[in-house]
Amino acid sequence: MTQAINTQQALYRALPAMDTLLLIPQVIGLSRQYGAAFVKNTLTGLLNQARQQIAKQHSLPHWCLDQTALVDWLTQQLQLQSRHSMTPVMNLSGTVLHTNLGRSQLSEAAITAVTDVMRYPVPLEFDMGAGKRGHRDSRISELVHELTGAQACCVVNNNAAAVLLMLAAVAPGKEVIVSRGELVEIGGAFRIPDIMAQAGCKLVEVGCTNRTHLKDYAAAITDNTAAIMKVHTSNYHISGFTAAVSEAELAGLCQARGVALISDLGSGALTDLARFGLDSEPMPQQMLNGGVDLVSFSGDKLLGGPQAGLVVGQQALIDKLQSHPLKRALRCDKMTLAALEATLLAYRNPETLDNELPMLRKLARPVPELNAVGEWLLAQCRALHQYFSITLTPCETQVGSGSQPHVLLPSVALCFSPKEDNSGPGVRALEQCFKAATVSVIGRISANRLWLDLRGCDDDAALGRVIATLDAALSRGEISL
Ligand SMILES: *Cc1c(COP(=O)(O)O)cnc(C)c1O
Repeated sequence: MTQAINTQQALYRALPAMDTLLLIPQVIGLSRQYGAAFVKNTLTGLLNQARQQIAKQHSLPHWCLDQTALVDWLTQQLQLQSRHSMTPVMNLSGTVLHTNLGRSQLSEAAITAVTDVMRYPVPLEFDMGAGKRGHRDSRISELVHELTGAQACCVVNNNAAAVLLMLAAVAPGKEVIVSRGELVEIGGAFRIPDIMAQAGCKLVEVGCTNRTHLKDYAAAITDNTAAIMKVHTSNYHISGFTAAVSEAELAGLCQARGVALISDLGSGALTDLARFGLDSEPMPQQMLNGGVDLVSFSGDKLLGGPQAGLVVGQQALIDKLQSHPLKRALRCDKMTLAALEATLLAYRNPETLDNELPMLRKLARPVPELNAVGEWLLAQCRALHQYFSITLTPCETQVGSGSQPHVLLPSVALCFSPKEDNSGPGVRALEQCFKAATVSVIGRISANRLWLDLRGCDDDAALGRVIATLDAALSRGEISL
């Protein structure tokens, strides 16, 4: 017993002192490179680990006794902790617009535009022609006018912010009428009743979950009503014995009674998506033509741009939004505006949109092409066949981000199932291997199979390399499953 304590004390005494460590020339160099406080904190962590190892295992970590090993270990730890968290992953999950994976990928044109505004001063709020102060939303406003006919546009951080600002500016302290069939929750605490409350409006619910009629709206209008709001039920679908009142029908009522008609469209596509094999999504231009005063939608759902919220419509109302104090808090930065401008420019030529926007390219990719990629990928698997049954299996891709939940696009998955006798490893282990690859591949496990939905792939060669590398490492025994 005494002997053990003595040894332990000896081990503690053998630990280098912090001051000594900080004087090692390489550590001084690392402090210059990584920052003195960060290096010292990391060393504190290492010494604490060593103390724990002494207490639990009565031994010293290997790096304590060897200065070179210590410097190597420290360098490795510093590098590990300095890695960027948002490194690219391949989203083969079966959901193309995955909110947790950053929704839309941007067009090359948008990426270039963003890097330029990051690197150089740009006329963000400067009117080059007049040589005086300009407005940061004016260029987007012009483009939106050209593409949708809207008089003006106000751009904010996301569609949730757009709805909040729209309500706060159009109906402060007033009543806003919404159908009970449209009291949407989007997730992440975006719920229409809560947003109403935050905007300082009084929600007036009308109709029933499945049926709301024009007369329900008409009967609910009072002297204190500022607006009727339609909310696109983008992430659910009510079917059966249903009735809803269209924007066009409501427009007449709103005009006659002097209240605004506003609409939260959610995804809001600017072109008919039917040409890309999707359902037609209600478009802001149709809403405006139908008599809606303001329409809001997201920048990074079916528009294929950066995270943003756009409110488009009547100039007088947009002016109210622009001058509301909340606008300053919700406005977009130059990177978002640059990416959005480049994205909108692509809409001038809808025929080539699926070439420009990666999101549409994925959604529109023909199944035979996916099959051909799948066959080629299958040929990259050799050692993997010893552990799993691998097949090309038809599957269905979701659009995602609450857009078109009822639409399932035909697709093909590279599908890994355990060997029939269950002798091999499970698919969870394989899923981890794919996640740990040089480019993380995110698949989906369902029915005890790992599915890599190829519709999510935008770099076939890179996916082929990941599979071939994994396969080679397996055959050399460098990784075990
Ligand atoms: C997605 C969505 C929102 C929220 O949009 P974000 O851009 O995610 O903030 C609001 N309303 C509807 C109907 C939506 O579909």
